[in-house]
Amino acid sequence: MKRRALVKEKRGPGAVLKELDIPTLGPKDILVQVKAAAICGTDIHIYEWDDWAAARVKPPMVFGHEFCGEVVQVGQNVTTVKPGDLVAGETHIPCGECYQCRTGDQHICQDMAILGVHTDGAFTDYLAIPEICTWRLCRDTDPEIGALYEPFGVAVHGVLRHNLASSSVVVFGCGPIGLFAISIAKTAGATQIFAVDLVEFRLDMAKKMGATVILNAAKDDVTTVIQECTGGVGADYVIELSGSPPAIKQGFNVLRNGGAVSLVGLPSEEVSLDLTKDIIYKEAKVFGSTGRHMFDTWYKTSALLETGMIDISQVITHRFKLSEYEEAFRVLVSEGREVGKVLLLP
Ligand SMILES: [Zn+2]
Ligand SMILES: [Zn+2]
Repeated sequence: MKRRALVKEKRGPGAVLKELDIPTLGPKDILVQVKAAAICGTDIHIYEWDDWAAARVKPPMVFGHEFCGEVVQVGQNVTTVKPGDLVAGETHIPCGECYQCRTGDQHICQDMAILGVHTDGAFTDYLAIPEICTWRLCRDTDPEIGALYEPFGVAVHGVLRHNLASSSVVVFGCGPIGLFAISIAKTAGATQIFAVDLVEFRLDMAKKMGATVILNAAKDDVTTVIQECTGGVGADYVIELSGSPPAIKQGFNVLRNGGAVSLVGLPSEEVSLDLTKDIIYKEAKVFGSTGRHMFDTWYKTSALLETGMIDISQVITHRFKLSEYEEAFRVLVSEGREVGKVLLLP
């Protein structure tokens, strides 16, 4: 039996859809038939082949890491899932042996591999993943939503470390994870949710997901509006998803004294902050936040999505067949700012 797989064949832009053998399983591996996969910013880096990809990715490899599928085969020592189970995949592949892995922080393992970056990924009909990277879903989960558990979890991990009840929150960056963050803040009881972006399409989506005030950083005076709306105090929490240096600085600006920031978006350059004013005198609490905590983030993600507390279906704006990958990436690259989540379906 063969599988189709989107392969980064060589260093440089593009990718090719190829026929490959079905992977063979180790004793603790699982073979998953992919029902839906989603394209992430990471995949665009790999497809376009920028500096980020050139420093990490070693072609030839199959990329893609956000997926949902059905277990079709399990290795002899697998105990937690069985054929027929519907699963989503955790992208962190921890070593299981380092200090962090042994003390409950597998997601920041010292020797971590990332699915679809360091190992063969999910833009394919069948992929093999280690048992530790599977998350079993409710049997009636829509695979399109199942494929979004992983990026939704990024937002859960960044937002739910704070106690948001009756709080004011500013979300910088309203791409899919920013939109998820807004919906999570809303559900967690934030009473004021400011959404900041540069694109009207995204701000409209932010409103639909629960933002109470939308601010276009190109036109609106973000700092003044937030100060006014919080009685001159500033916001309790800032969730930074844009990775943009000016937005990061503005985030610290609008944070109240004693407030907390989650830094989730990845700036591609160094960012300078006035530590005295922005952090020390403010006693700001600053949290770096990467990926998902294994596995309490997944329990929270399931609790929010399986129960229908949060509906993220409207964040999906485009669906393509795997064979139409060129069009999918074209849409993301050329219209990316007006696009929500893009799915690749078998
Ligand atoms: Zn991703
Ligand atoms: Zn480790």
